[in-house]
Amino acid sequence: MDDGSVKVFKGFRVQYNDSRGPNKGGIRFHPEETIDTVRALAAWMTWKTAVVDIPLGGGKGGVICNPKCMSERELERLSRAYIDQVGRIIGPDKDVPAPDVYTTPQIMAWMMDEFSKINGCNSPGVITGKPLSVGGSEGRGDATARGGAYCTREAAKYLDIDLAKSSVAIQGFGNAGQFAATLFASILGCKIVAVSDTKGGVYCKDGIDPEAIVKWKLEKGTVVGFPGTTPVSNGDILELPVEVLVPAALENVITSENAADIKAKIVCELANGPTTPEADEILYKNGVFVIPDFLANAGGVTVSYYEWVQNMTNYYWEEDDVHVKLDKKMTKAFQDVLVMAGDYKVDMRTAAYMVSIGRVAEAMKLRGWV
Ligand code: GLU
Repeated sequence: MDDGSVKVFKGFRVQYNDSRGPNKGGIRFHPEETIDTVRALAAWMTWKTAVVDIPLGGGKGGVICNPKCMSERELERLSRAYIDQVGRIIGPDKDVPAPDVYTTPQIMAWMMDEFSKINGCNSPGVITGKPLSVGGSEGRGDATARGGAYCTREAAKYLDIDLAKSSVAIQGFGNAGQFAATLFASILGCKIVAVSDTKGGVYCKDGIDPEAIVKWKLEKGTVVGFPGTTPVSNGDILELPVEVLVPAALENVITSENAADIKAKIVCELANGPTTPEADEILYKNGVFVIPDFLANAGGVTVSYYEWVQNMTNYYWEEDDVHVKLDKKMTKAFQDVLVMAGDYKVDMRTAAYMVSIGRVAEAMKLRGWV
């Protein structure tokens, strides 16, 4: 640590299934990280890469730490130390990490550098979500939210909802939440009426300027106090009268306690695991259309895949190419799941599992693993 003391952090890397390609999934830095969460998220990465049909498997990593209380140098040392420990089990053809909760492009750059140093060669394909100047991809920064926006567009078409007349509430204002605010407004024409972060939320039924609130958040560290809004709690934001609700923070926020009070017509799950299984049933019964997490937020890993392809071929694409390819991938994935849901009369989450598990099972059978 900066004060000269030594602190030991506990970290994990879980590789769940690589039948369709190298394991893939982010690394979380969080004070409440657990091995079980990382295991569940590694499984979800497997279904996520399969539902968008990219040739990668599923993995996840995590370190128990509080990055908000660490200096830049301490974070760098922790990031490098993590790679020193897992370096042997990751690699461009084995397991390719990426950013997740509280990890950033800068952290990816340190990790890539440490891996390259250990192996004595430049190895940008070991990790994705890097800054552009060290092998990142155009379009990776906003990819998670953009993919969610494309899914929401398709859902609205199916449900015959006019998004230009729709309002949106966003819970969580990190990378995914911030880009959701700007992109749901710019691509879909929606009105953003409420956003929240760990310190609280803000609401204005006439709409909040997405660019201005992102700027405010970056300057003040919170959305709280944004002019022209009234305060709303992290719980109440989920129950606002909006057409689209975007949980974009952590897991288990829509539960059996509040599911019946959700008024949104579409829930676009940009966070991983925001809805509990009990809440899911209530939402389905009430006719709320849920775009499940591992479909709704798969835009991030899809552009990670494009980044990895660019690293492996050393040929870099323009931003428009990334957007067009991402749109096609997300639209196809959404339609595959919608067709499955219709054919088997199941909700979108069950249908997404059916699509993904079918693809993973096929690969495992063909390899002779089962
Ligand atoms: N952490 C993101 C996710 O949960 C991105 C993973 C990746 O790009 O590999 O999907």
